[in-house]
Amino acid sequence: MLHNFTKRRRLVVLLAVLSVVALVLVGRWLNATKIGGQQPAEPFRIAGNFYYVGANDVAAFLITGPEGHVVLDGGYPTTARLIMASIAKLGFDIKDVKVLLNSEPHPDHGGGLTVLQQASGAQLWASDASADSLASGGDDPDIILPMRALIWVGLVGYPRTRVDHRFKDGETIRVGPVALTAHITAGHTRGSTSWSFPVRDGDRVLNVVSVCDLGVLANSWYPEQAADRERSLSLLRSLPADIWVTNHAKAWGRYRKFLASAAAKNPVDAFIDPEGYRAYLDAAEAELRAGRVH
Ligand SMILES: [Zn+2]
Repeated sequence: MLHNFTKRRRLVVLLAVLSVVALVLVGRWLNATKIGGQQPAEPFRIAGNFYYVGANDVAAFLITGPEGHVVLDGGYPTTARLIMASIAKLGFDIKDVKVLLNSEPHPDHGGGLTVLQQASGAQLWASDASADSLASGGDDPDIILPMRALIWVGLVGYPRTRVDHRFKDGETIRVGPVALTAHITAGHTRGSTSWSFPVRDGDRVLNVVSVCDLGVLANSWYPEQAADRERSLSLLRSLPADIWVTNHAKAWGRYRKFLASAAAKNPVDAFIDPEGYRAYLDAAEAELRAGRVH
């Protein structure tokens, strides 16, 4: 009797262990193969040397120059091949991409950077906090513990990424005449970065701001978060923005503006949207005041 009971208990424990192993393996497989619902999107010129090369939702941008190109954001690990196909479709060579930048280290924007880095040989730049997160494959001390545990066992997250350089707030990253200024606009994550740079359209120079995600997730918190969000908003309000984008397509009207640009006399005009930029900041501020999280 006692013998049978021990035997059965051993079997139960064995089955439990096997189920956990199976769950972890299936989860890892799903994580490795998922594209986060991403579908290919037609790449297009926004203005001058500034192009959209992202998927239907998660964004990626190409800024081209005579001495090499810059790619901002990598999507999920599996989005990277869509980004590379878009770069090729526009007639550019991934091997001419010299610098990789990012808006934040979450898997939907930082996950694909390693693939892009391996294909291009480009140098990856990140803020200190984002660099730590990218280098650990998406870990972040500000994420609540159960969620971090999922990263540790490989259920979420992405391959560890090699970060070549760390920048400080306000630093300008250059590839020949291409120059993007980093604004560490913390809140969504500690290292979240917005970028400002000029593009030329004919005889006018337009100011572009690529603003990071400003929403706050329920699974991520740190003591200085509210103060950081205030500072980020006031900094972003001080930037001149003729054209603005952010890292999810709907938020800046990618498809709507793409269609409008195809119909416009000057296609660039469809992307000039300082009111949209202010509305995006106003919405972020309203969320902050209301204490809303996602
Ligand atoms: Zn995010």
